[in-house]
Amino acid sequence: SEMSYVMIKPDGVQRGLVGDIISRFERKGFQLKGLKLYQTPQAVAEEHYKDLKEKPFYPALVGYICSGPVVCMVWEGKGVVASARKLIGATNPLASEPGTIRGDFAIEVGRNVIHGSDSPENGERETAIWFGSEGLV
Ligand code: ATP
Ligand code: MG
Repeated sequence: SEMSYVMIKPDGVQRGLVGDIISRFERKGFQLKGLKLYQTPQAVAEEHYKDLKEKPFYPALVGYICSGPVVCMVWEGKGVVASARKLIGATNPLASEPGTIRGDFAIEVGRNVIHGSDSPENGERETAIWFGSEGLV
């Protein structure tokens, strides 16, 4: 069934938000299919964000993702891609609703704590990038 690749970015890990964030997805009812702490190689961050390659913030974005360990997760369930985006909140944390992860924990778009796939197709694509042949439960 549908999968979303969700990633706690280095600021979220460093600030000790891992438990709270995982808990929100568990309580919502989605199923955890993959989980690891990971120091991202630059080539992996570049592949993940390749659609943003022409953006002025792309080099800083890749540097941010590689600046410390991330928590890589795959969550599964009906409607998980759109629902995860709702739990996460708007890209710019100042526009994210309170009660969302970014709305509760962030201020800056360049340090917005968490990633979630934007389509089921990208859920599959990103899961392959980050988990590859490791396989999921
Ligand atoms: P993500 O893909 O990380 O879940 P998103 O889908 O909400 O975020 P995208 O448009 O895909 O937003 O941008 C990817 C990431 O690039 C953002 O989460 C943010 O970290 C960074 N980013 C986006 N816009 C800007 C900007 N204007 N300045 C700096 N960083 C930005
Ligand atoms: Mg995105």
